[in-house]
Amino acid sequence: MSSAASPSQIQSQQAKLRRLVNCPGNDICAECGAPSPKWASCNLGVLVCLRCAGAHRSLSTQISMIRSLTLDRWTDEQIETVLSIGNDKANEIWEHSIPPGAKISMQSTPEETIAFVRRKYVDREWSIHSDNSDRNNANSTTPVPTFVPSTTQHIMVNQVQAGLLTIQLIEGVDLTPSDPNGLSDPYVIFTLGTEHNRSRTVQKSLSPRWDETINMRVPSRDLPLKMRCMDYDRTSRDDFLGEAALDLRTLQDGVPQNLWVALGRVDRGQLHMVLIYTALSE
Ligand SMILES: [Zn+2]
Repeated sequence: MSSAASPSQIQSQQAKLRRLVNCPGNDICAECGAPSPKWASCNLGVLVCLRCAGAHRSLSTQISMIRSLTLDRWTDEQIETVLSIGNDKANEIWEHSIPPGAKISMQSTPEETIAFVRRKYVDREWSIHSDNSDRNNANSTTPVPTFVPSTTQHIMVNQVQAGLLTIQLIEGVDLTPSDPNGLSDPYVIFTLGTEHNRSRTVQKSLSPRWDETINMRVPSRDLPLKMRCMDYDRTSRDDFLGEAALDLRTLQDGVPQNLWVALGRVDRGQLHMVLIYTALSE
């Protein structure tokens, strides 16, 4: 989309990145406490030292996406994510119930560091929402959704959260054609309370394949998940391809639900998705 950044854009970006360093707790590495961390996980919103950045890189980029504060290009969204989270808030979540002595230090070996970040972000051993989880269920075959804050969704620890909704938007079928070529450029907007999330646009298709994961906060399960399918138009208003609403109270905590949703207010079209609701507290 956008081309190379201008010198002034780079300058303002550098200024924003410097602000990151002043966020509470960002003066030391979120993992080992080393001073003046120069790397960041731009989706987890933490600043880390070079060694711990290496450990983060051993995780999938779905879990942690590492960027250098000085060497890499950042999107505004990535900067905003890290600005809105920061080490203190992130550790309130990910190290919520960490026992004394479990934290690593600057003296820890690379192996210990990797094992630590795995326990912290992959197994989510100490995170705020594993408090009430039944440890005996560890062998259960039910897939537990990985809690990965996307770059469009910031964790607000001060906000009351009833839960998290992971939407795996798979595909649409038999959507309404709305363009002169007999096709559409569909995308989906999900709304939960005041939060909106938009899927990417699939060009020229009535059977779009999204294969996209969207995470949303659920302030209350009484709120319906609303979805609106639209056709993207470059030169005019986007066209309406149908809408639907889902009652989240029908979802079982932690159990993936495979759904085909018929689009209303139009005479054709369905969306295929998997929803996983994860309760955050009792
Ligand atoms: Zn470190």
